[in-house]
Amino acid sequence: MVHLRSMIKGSSSVSRGEEVADRSHSKSGIGVVIWNVTYDCNMRCSHCYQSEWRPIRELSDFNELRIVDQLEELGKPLIFISGGEPLLKSQTPQLIRELKARDFRVILSTNGSLSGALRSVADSLDNIALPLYGPEEFHDTITGVKGSYNSVINALRDLKGMNLTIKTVASRSTVKHIRHLLDVASRYDVSTLYVCDLLPEGRASSSEILSKEEWRKLIDFFLQEVIMEEEYGEIEIDIGLHPSAAIYASMRAGFEVKRRIMREGRGLISISPTGDVLLSPYLGDLRIGDARRIKEALESDIYREVGDARNLKGVCGDCPFKEVCGGSRVKAYVYSGDLLGEDPTCLIN
Ligand code: SF4
Repeated sequence: MVHLRSMIKGSSSVSRGEEVADRSHSKSGIGVVIWNVTYDCNMRCSHCYQSEWRPIRELSDFNELRIVDQLEELGKPLIFISGGEPLLKSQTPQLIRELKARDFRVILSTNGSLSGALRSVADSLDNIALPLYGPEEFHDTITGVKGSYNSVINALRDLKGMNLTIKTVASRSTVKHIRHLLDVASRYDVSTLYVCDLLPEGRASSSEILSKEEWRKLIDFFLQEVIMEEEYGEIEIDIGLHPSAAIYASMRAGFEVKRRIMREGRGLISISPTGDVLLSPYLGDLRIGDARRIKEALESDIYREVGDARNLKGVCGDCPFKEVCGGSRVKAYVYSGDLLGEDPTCLIN
């Protein structure tokens, strides 16, 4: 997570979440949990890192493993409830209410298609993230579901006034529609646009991946027109899976990155639908522990090794920014098979 507006202007709609994550991280080593409650999904997005939903035994009772109790003891990290489509799971609303009752900060990432379920939990959420890829026909082609664009717009209209995020993926096809997304965001008072880099995994096509130069142009646009000139109001721009975007932005806009970016092995973990603790939802084959014993996963060799910037190799190992940035460990692994290798997508190298 790289919050451009917050880094430049000092605060934004995500500042409260940053505080929560930092406080929990310094208490126990865990600041952000991405909790994928199911792999099941009612859409088939062309960029999804999951190829297909696998009919495996997912957790049916969230109390079974005492996950919420453990997370509470570990300092109440920021919780992202995600999937698949998390609202397809009948137990998800109860989980969200339970987290809220215990004063966690909870963000739901949903495709917006299950409007009744979404409305029923909206008041318990601190932020609701909905996907948008471009205008109606384009969006529906990406998701593979006709009417999916309208589901998102209806959800944005229904939830206007709440803390909302539009999430998208940056690819050769979607980047042309960034202004459309910002226009929609402005119309519905959306506080954050989350732009995630595309990974060559699952259904994604590697020909759609943006080059470094295309990414730099995109960040320049965000810095100049969105953050400095505020063409679309005070919207936050959150860049996902691209930590070096923070370093590149700091060089372009002349500021210092003060907050260490939370990443795999350093504050961020994922809980899988089957109850495994993972370094990241994108690294499903790298299990670091069992959700029955989250603390043990944080003390595992792999979590410690990946989190320590002194272990990094290649350009990341030699980089003066490795403590604040550290590169994407997900990309190092996906592109080269080495978790400690260099981030091949670094925007300053
Ligand atoms: S070399 Fe690695 S640590 Fe340095 S800025 Fe690039 S991605 Fe970040």
